[in-house]
Amino acid sequence: MSAPMSGEKQPTVFRFKFGAFEVATLLDSKGIRDNLHPLFGANTTADEVQSLARANNIDPQRLENGNVPTLVNTGKELVLFDTGNGFLPRDYEQLKARMPAGHLVERLAELGHKPEDIDVIVITHGHPDHIGGLLDGGKPIYPNARYLFGAAEYDFWLKDENVREARKFNRELFVKICEPLKPKATFIKPGDVVVPGITAVDAFGHSPGLLAFQVESDDKKLMITADTFTHFVMHVQRPDWHFDMDDDKEKAVVTRKRILAQLASEKMLAIGFHMPFPAIGWIDTAADGTYRWVPYSYQFNL
Ligand SMILES: [Zn+2]
Repeated sequence: MSAPMSGEKQPTVFRFKFGAFEVATLLDSKGIRDNLHPLFGANTTADEVQSLARANNIDPQRLENGNVPTLVNTGKELVLFDTGNGFLPRDYEQLKARMPAGHLVERLAELGHKPEDIDVIVITHGHPDHIGGLLDGGKPIYPNARYLFGAAEYDFWLKDENVREARKFNRELFVKICEPLKPKATFIKPGDVVVPGITAVDAFGHSPGLLAFQVESDDKKLMITADTFTHFVMHVQRPDWHFDMDDDKEKAVVTRKRILAQLASEKMLAIGFHMPFPAIGWIDTAADGTYRWVPYSYQFNL
C-alpha cells in the first residue's frame, strides 16, 4: 500500500450572514515574497522585524501575501470590492515572475455567481492587485457592472504628477485599464454613500486616495480596510513601521494608527485585502497597548 500525497487544499471562498446582508471574501491569488525586511520596517532594523516575526510564529524572511476581494450582497445589489490580479501576469512580461494569476471569476462561481451578476464594482485604490481583474483583452470582465472610484485616487493616476519612480508602470496600467471604464464610473469621496448601508472612509496614505468602506446592516458594522494595514503582524502590532508599497509612508502611518484605534475602540469587524484568508477579524488591544489581529471564527453564525 502506498498513500500518495495530494498537495495543498485550502479554503478559497468564505461567506457569512451580516445583519440583513451576506458578506463573502474570495481568495483571488496568493504569492510568496522574500525580504520581510526591508519590505516592512525599512525605518527599523532587520533584527527587530525578524524577532517580531519569530515571536508570532511566522517565517522571519519570507511571507505569504494573499489578495482577497470582498463581495457584499445587500439583497438588492451585488457589490464587489476590488478585482485581484486578473490576467496581468499573462499580459505583461515584467509581471510574470512576481505576480500570481488571478482567479476571482472561478471563486465567484464557487459562490454561485456569474460575472454578469455583479452590479457594482468598487475600486479601493489603483494598485495592480486591485484593478488587474477588471478587463480581459481590453474587455470588461463584468459586463453589467457600474464602477465606483475614489475621486482623489482616479485624478492622481490620470494627472501623472508626483507619481514616484516605482509606480510609473502602475500609472501606465491604471490609465490603460481604468480610463476606458470612465463612461460607466462615478467618483466618490470619503463620507459618500456607495449604496444604502455602505459608506466610504478616508484611508489616504498607502495610495494617494485609498478608500476604506464601512458596511452597516441592522445594528452591525464592519470595515473593509483594503490596504490600510497589509500584514496581520507587521502592520497591526507595529503600525509605525514603513511599508515599501506605501506611496506616502508617513501619511500611511498616521492613517493606519487612526483606523486601528477606531477598530479597536469600537470593536468593529475588519476585512483586510492582504490579511490571511478568510481575511476577517478584529483588532484587539494587548496589555502592553499594542494591537493584535484576532481572526473571525463563528461569531455571526450563532
Ligand atoms: Zn494591495
